Amino acid sequence: MRFDIITLFPELFLPFFRCGVVGRAFSGGLARAETAQLRDYCEGAHGADDRPFGGGSGMVLAAAPVLAAVRDMRKRNAGPVIYPTPRGEVFSDAVARDLAKLPGCIILCGRYRGVDERALEAEADREISLGDYVLSGGETAAMAVMDAVLRYVPGVLGNPLSAEEDSFGGGLLDAPCYTRPEVVEGRAAPAVLLSGDHAAIREWRQARAREMTAERRPDLLSPPQPPPSKMEGG
Ligand code: SAM
Repeated sequence: MRFDIITLFPELFLPFFRCGVVGRAFSGGLARAETAQLRDYCEGAHGADDRPFGGGSGMVLAAAPVLAAVRDMRKRNAGPVIYPTPRGEVFSDAVARDLAKLPGCIILCGRYRGVDERALEAEADREISLGDYVLSGGETAAMAVMDAVLRYVPGVLGNPLSAEEDSFGGGLLDAPCYTRPEVVEGRAAPAVLLSGDHAAIREWRQARAREMTAERRPDLLSPPQPPPSKMEGG
């Protein structure tokens, strides 16, 4: 899978591309990622950003360099152009699985007040939000998307079952986990986890996962209901 990231801050991605599961995906050739500096697509005296028409706070990323950068990326990446933005569809495990099936994607990182709407109308294929808060740039959102997506690219996780065992994989939150020592400040790890009885351990984890989900995310247990039909007349 190939990621092309358009950003004003390519240096933010350097440690991300090198560390942990994501780093292994790239160093092992299972995925590749490149950053493009938006400023390299500016022409003449015009910069990457300008004051917003109509006034107000914050600069706006100008349409011309964004369009030029996206179109250049499209020559090497057949995937959709994703714009991370608070107004997008909320990112989730289902969206990550969906994106992992693609040959790649191009991620356009906004900054300041945002991106000139005309560039988005012309080239953004999908808008994704990390949640109901505002980040100062799309770079951290791009990293979150890449991280979650790469976990579903075959071969990236050493144990392919881990994604299914983690939260959302089986539709539930994950069960609590423990490691040595057996007792920490008087708190003992659950005895069943030390029993060696794999069936009992599986059952315990399933039960704790259900409890945790019921307590913290009951919405995951009950699929959304259709809205009640309107009463006619009366
Ligand atoms: N004016 C925009 C608004 O109120 O919706 C926020 C702009 S924000 C300061 C700069 C950039 O950060 C955005 O263009 C977007 O790319 C990114 N961003 C901010 N919050 C985000 C979120 N919740 N999810 C995804 N991207 C986000």
